[in-house]
Amino acid sequence: MRSKGRVVAAFLLFLGAVLLGIPVGAASEGGAGLPLYLVQLQEYAAAREPRLFTYQIRPGDTLYSIALEFGTDIETLAGLNNIGNPHLIFAGETIEVLTLVGSVHRVAEGETVEKIAELYGVEAEAILEANRLSGDRLLPRGERIIVPGGRLSRSGTVVFSWPLQGRLTSGYGWRNGKFHYGIDIGAPHGTPFYAAADGRVSKAQYWGSYGLMVELDHGYGWSSRYGHASKLAVTPGQRVSSGQVIGYIGVTGNTTGPHLHFEILKDGQKINPQSQLP
Ligand SMILES: [Zn+2]
Repeated sequence: MRSKGRVVAAFLLFLGAVLLGIPVGAASEGGAGLPLYLVQLQEYAAAREPRLFTYQIRPGDTLYSIALEFGTDIETLAGLNNIGNPHLIFAGETIEVLTLVGSVHRVAEGETVEKIAELYGVEAEAILEANRLSGDRLLPRGERIIVPGGRLSRSGTVVFSWPLQGRLTSGYGWRNGKFHYGIDIGAPHGTPFYAAADGRVSKAQYWGSYGLMVELDHGYGWSSRYGHASKLAVTPGQRVSSGQVIGYIGVTGNTTGPHLHFEILKDGQKINPQSQLP
């Protein structure tokens, strides 16, 4: 907001100068030799364009103060960063900030602007403009699209994907007289495995029979665990995106061979991961 104000002020000053017939600077100070007024006009336009950027939380910041500073709201920031409890943000952590009220959508296979607009109940025109796209077309899978005003229902839906490609060696349920609270996916030692959904690292450590493990908090009461790693690629507190490498297959903890032990928890209860996987 502050820098936008500055740009507007500079623009008004410039207009005033022109009207009063005062020569405005050396008219070719712009990087590419553009006249100053053109540079200023471009800056003015750029300041109005929605931006998505990473922000490091400072001491004293609240989600509310950050939202206010950048012209968005708490719900936008919470949704964007999978923050379940807006009071639990910490100085030094980084979050993503979108400079308008809305959502950021990760494009799934076969999605078009029209389809995304329908999903969020907004005008396709608004999405085209915010992302400087022209015309409806198939969007590249995985690309992130700003959806102005877009709000998915806050039903607490987290979309999970498989943490790695491999052989399912053991399912959820009874096994040799003991209940197995996750699924096992066999893969060679050292194979990377991935965050099954966007979230925040809540554990990255040795933890009993899990061995070297990662636990992710996905917000809305959802979390996931990844056990028996040989090496981890994340640290506690870090935010991760779905599909990001978080560790490597190993044989730490209670295991007989290299595999990933994968759990999904809802409100602290271990559920069958396959009920949430595609
Ligand atoms: Zn297991």
